[in-house]
Amino acid sequence: MVTVTNRIIEQTERFGAHNYHPLPIVISRAEGVWVEDPEGNKFMDMLSAYSALNHGHRHPRIIAALKEQADKVTLTSRAFHNDQLGAFYEKLSVLTGKNMILPMNTGAEAVETALKAVRRWAYTVKQVTDDQAEIIVCEGNFHGRTITVTSFSSSEEYKEGFGPFTPGFKIIPYGDLEALRKAITPNTAAFLVEPIQGEAGIVMPPEGFLKAAAELCKANRVLLIADEIQTGFGRTGKTFACDWESVVPDMYIMGKALGGGVFPISAVAADQEILGVFNPGSHGSTFGGNPLGCAVAIAALDVLQDEALVKRSEELGEYFIGQLRQIANPVIKEVRGRGLFIGLELHGEARPYCEKLKELGILCKETHETTIRFAPPLTITKEQLDWALARIKQLF
Ligand code: PLP
Repeated sequence: MVTVTNRIIEQTERFGAHNYHPLPIVISRAEGVWVEDPEGNKFMDMLSAYSALNHGHRHPRIIAALKEQADKVTLTSRAFHNDQLGAFYEKLSVLTGKNMILPMNTGAEAVETALKAVRRWAYTVKQVTDDQAEIIVCEGNFHGRTITVTSFSSSEEYKEGFGPFTPGFKIIPYGDLEALRKAITPNTAAFLVEPIQGEAGIVMPPEGFLKAAAELCKANRVLLIADEIQTGFGRTGKTFACDWESVVPDMYIMGKALGGGVFPISAVAADQEILGVFNPGSHGSTFGGNPLGCAVAIAALDVLQDEALVKRSEELGEYFIGQLRQIANPVIKEVRGRGLFIGLELHGEARPYCEKLKELGILCKETHETTIRFAPPLTITKEQLDWALARIKQLF
């Protein structure tokens, strides 16, 4: 039968590059935790656009901020000042405790910004010999898709056919303190780490690793960069996942939910000693810091606080994980996660289960073949979670 859904999927597949393998569903409307296809079927969104929709779809306050700003000014470029950027900086500075912010658009661009900053810091502050700076990263990392970021991926799938790559990176096993210690040299500028690895399948480092890594970095004058693009803004039940170990990194990289699921905006936050290395001409972005994105981000940060979404994520996440762990099915290998950032690892392929969950009205996506990621909007209610749990239990 030629449904609207089928027609749209056919058109999308015909004209688009095939760099994704989406589930066969078209979303044409959305509100809160619910999305709808053109035929009017409703589904619960338990992926939240890879944690960009922490506030749910079309949060009324964020949409209102978008509309209000759209009626005033949307883009100035950084050739001129705009009246939203300063307020955005101040809000994010207060939240992160860092005194400088640099705005970009996507996560990968913010990661690139962080890499440029720490390399320049290494040469100008730490006095590393020119072009010798090293950055340590972890196996299983995911920091984006640019050539440089892809250069230090440990996944062949992400790299194949894209060389030559950017040098200057060392890969250590995730969560291995001894390997980090051994990898540090006088030329090490930074250690870049996801406090919980998202794309790798919600992989958590051993307890205490982040704290010990932070101390090791500090002792060796190595900057600790936390990529909180996926884990930030309450996703794991704390404002930042680093908070779980009371770790304050030298630099935060943020994206996704910073834009309230409405507008792409990313940023890095660090103190002046680090971000002060940029001077006019050394870095930038036409859309970075645009007033529309800033107004949206300000509203998103306000909603996070006013609706206590961080606490909500912690409490509901604990409940959800507890319920999932009670399911006794030998196909389930492990349930892990923090807050509403949960991985259900199976003995076998996760994709067929995601397809069946879709039939039951739940949208989620496999990550790394065997893990189902559950990351609903943080605005979800306990009743809605129970609705999802009933269906998940039906499947397992
Ligand atoms: N860093 C992390 C930890 C991510 O999870 C992602 C995206 O999934 C990125 C960076 C890249 O962000 P973007 O897709 O906005 O470039």
